[in-house]
Amino acid sequence: MILFDQIIFGPIHSRRLGLSLGINLLPVDAKICSFNCLYCECGFNTTMREFAMPTREQVREILEVKLRLMAENSEIPDVITFAGNGEPTLHPEFEGIIDDTIILRNLWCQQAKVSVLSNSTRIHKPHIFNALKKVDCNILKFDSAIDNTMKLIDQPVGKHINVQWLIEHLKRFEGKLIIQTMFLRGEFKGQTFDNTTDAEIAAWLSAMEEICPEQIMIYSIDRETPVQNLEKVSVDELNTIAEKAKARGFDVSVSG
Ligand code: SF4
Repeated sequence: MILFDQIIFGPIHSRRLGLSLGINLLPVDAKICSFNCLYCECGFNTTMREFAMPTREQVREILEVKLRLMAENSEIPDVITFAGNGEPTLHPEFEGIIDDTIILRNLWCQQAKVSVLSNSTRIHKPHIFNALKKVDCNILKFDSAIDNTMKLIDQPVGKHINVQWLIEHLKRFEGKLIIQTMFLRGEFKGQTFDNTTDAEIAAWLSAMEEICPEQIMIYSIDRETPVQNLEKVSVDELNTIAEKAKARGFDVSVSG
């Protein structure tokens, strides 16, 4: 598995986001997340270890140096993306870091969008909700509208997470969000799952109609996963799912 060994990484060409400068608010030597997705490119969560997150000041200083350098080289990112070794909203100073990033973006690369890739598990917290409302691309995970499937694929750490909880809290953004769904099939500890079945897609589309995202991003496995028995869903299948969502009026992008 690949861990990001820096606070700022890239810029990299992202399948979904363009030229993306990444920010990793998690430790550089551990993966920490409130999900433990079977497909996570960073592997399973690191346990039983002490770890340190970068401070707000460190992130601001390193980001400013990087953005200034990029501006001097006329290399302007399309997007500044919070991703990295786990769930970025776990950082205790997440909202302040978002505020700093927006200030720096306005100073050095006005056209770049500030994006957050989050798993949706902490959107009930007012400071996280407020921070995510400030960013340009509030990209939130929703992998299945059927509880057993979501829990099997995403392995939530917190007991409060279930599909109905996610839908109710995602609705609170009143459409100012992008839903991201990974489609896959597989087996884990004797249980099989497939979030592409007719029943899954019907439930997922109903959930999308409740949540009303401004965009939907669907994608499939791209790199090594911590679980071996996973099957990549083909681009053709993703396109078929996308057509169904587009028929209901959604703006859908596919990365296969
Ligand atoms: S939410 Fe993202 S970082 Fe967390 S386990 Fe899932 S894929 Fe990995």
